[in-house]
Amino acid sequence: MHITVVGTGYVGLVTGVGLATIGHRVTCLDIDKEKVTRLQSGEVPIYEPGLAELMREKMAQELLTFTTNAQEAYARGKVVFIAVGTPSNPDGSANLTYITQVCAEIGMYARQDMIVVTKSTVPVGTNDYIKETIERHLCSDVAISMASNPEFLREGSGVHDFFQGDRIVIGTADEPTAGVLEELFKPLEIPIFKTDIRSAEMIKYASNAFLATKISFINEISNICEKLHANIEDVAAGMGLDKRIGSQFLKAGIGYGGSCFPKDTDALVQIAGNVKHDFQLLKAVIEVNNKQQTSLVQKAKQLMDLSGKRIAMLGLAFKPNTDDMREAPSLVIADQLLTEGADVVAYDPQAKENAKLLLPHIQYVGSIDEAISEADAVFLVTEWDEIKQYPLEQYVELMRQPVIFDGRNCFELERVRQYALDYYSIGRVPVL
Ligand code: NAD
Repeated sequence: MHITVVGTGYVGLVTGVGLATIGHRVTCLDIDKEKVTRLQSGEVPIYEPGLAELMREKMAQELLTFTTNAQEAYARGKVVFIAVGTPSNPDGSANLTYITQVCAEIGMYARQDMIVVTKSTVPVGTNDYIKETIERHLCSDVAISMASNPEFLREGSGVHDFFQGDRIVIGTADEPTAGVLEELFKPLEIPIFKTDIRSAEMIKYASNAFLATKISFINEISNICEKLHANIEDVAAGMGLDKRIGSQFLKAGIGYGGSCFPKDTDALVQIAGNVKHDFQLLKAVIEVNNKQQTSLVQKAKQLMDLSGKRIAMLGLAFKPNTDDMREAPSLVIADQLLTEGADVVAYDPQAKENAKLLLPHIQYVGSIDEAISEADAVFLVTEWDEIKQYPLEQYVELMRQPVIFDGRNCFELERVRQYALDYYSIGRVPVL
């Protein structure tokens, strides 16, 4: 099947490469010329494990091409996947500017009947708007059929999630369209859940809101554990053994970030508000998360004067195995540390270049050793394997004062106790 994927970001690129891998002929379209030039030369502009190898293989087999030529891309695709960004407006609602542009272009250039599949996360009802907008711009006598196919991949394991996802949701009012998409995804052998378009759109928001709720819930429990000298890691493990609860997303830390949870929870509050529903629970989830992101520096401030201190930040990306800095808790932490007058020295295995654009006033180094040398305190912000596996004796050896504020509970307390470290983590007693 000939497929066009619009947008070559984290979602579009993984989708394009994945669909080519299961045998489809895929054209990926993007308006970013520099990105497309890099992709055409076989370079992946984002960090996503396993993606580059697969992409080059499919390009060599001529199953995957990249273009900025919308006319060509839309004329070719029988099925068009929209995977452009839907960032937040200042009021938290979803910004549909890119979606609207894509609709106008599809309308202008569609030359055959087409199935338009929305992968981007869009507010409930948006697929109606997409269809109307495309049809308003149509220049040929062609039929547009709509489907919602929300994306659930996690950055950092996007390739794995494409091939091993828990479910594929297809929302459409049109049975033949559902049939085409079922056929298209069939080689993946992932359970397909079919529903109407609005329910599919809501499944995406409700899923992210639920996961964010789990995180804020366990973070609140961790804050109480700290005051009562209970251990959040044991509490979460004990809770997770209950199959009704499950062990995933019960990791206490410095809050969620990234390109999805913050924006999608904000958008769902707006979506609910638009139909006069005050989503109190989700508002609390967001508020708890905002507070949690500041908690580690608050803790540090009670223990030391940060002014003029050399503070190492280990990890900047919003989570390990990605270079994505969007809404990363590190942004809040670095900002707080700078406000306190600290000299911040940061290390991240992949996110340095993206971080520099958002955090121009901190110093960047190329290794953990360099970051922690002569530091007065270390903040562990992202739980990269490299950071979790770094020998604890090195902190004792290299730091001016071996004080660690661990925002991701990277180490067992028993292990930390073997070293002359002051160690503060989340929801656990300090080791002094
Ligand atoms: P991204 O910002 O990484 O990529 C979007 C791409 O779309 C950019 O390369 C941009 O140049 C391109 N684009 C914009 N307008 C275009 C146009 N008119 N024609 C062609 N290309 C255009 O975004 P992303 O992180 O891949 O997210 C895409 C969507 O998927 C969003 O709605 C997001 O909420 C959703 N989503 C993201 C993730 C994730 O982990 N990143 C997971 C699930 C769902």
